[in-house]
Amino acid sequence: MAITGGCHCGALRYEAMGEAITHALCHCKDCRRHAGAPMVGWTMYQESAVKITKGAPKVYHSSEFGRRLFCADCGTGLFYTNAQVLPGIVDIQSGTYDDPELVPARAHIQVAERIGWMARAHELPAFERYPPQ
Ligand SMILES: [Zn+2]
Ligand SMILES: [Zn+2]
Repeated sequence: MAITGGCHCGALRYEAMGEAITHALCHCKDCRRHAGAPMVGWTMYQESAVKITKGAPKVYHSSEFGRRLFCADCGTGLFYTNAQVLPGIVDIQSGTYDDPELVPARAHIQVAERIGWMARAHELPAFERYPPQ
């Protein structure tokens, strides 16, 4: 199976071959701050399975060995690598898939840093679009 995806503006495109090693929803503070979102979905692949097919991401050093690659034009975060903790591995932000339904999330990780109310987010009222006025 080949997954394709890209950033919001389309300047960056990628392709990932084969099955994802895993798909985790990360609640760590680094992901939260960098994405500006309560959690971030990451699918893990061998580096050799991932190819950037268009554009060149900007690299942000988010920790000593952590690298977050994003589109310098529109700001979308795409990849995470950590040569020390995850050598040979690329994490792809699953929200950037052309079809995010293809690889369902399998776990929540880093819940030690999760925002308290996120633990019960699935219990919130849900609306097809917006709440009635
Ligand atoms: Zn972009
Ligand atoms: Zn994280």
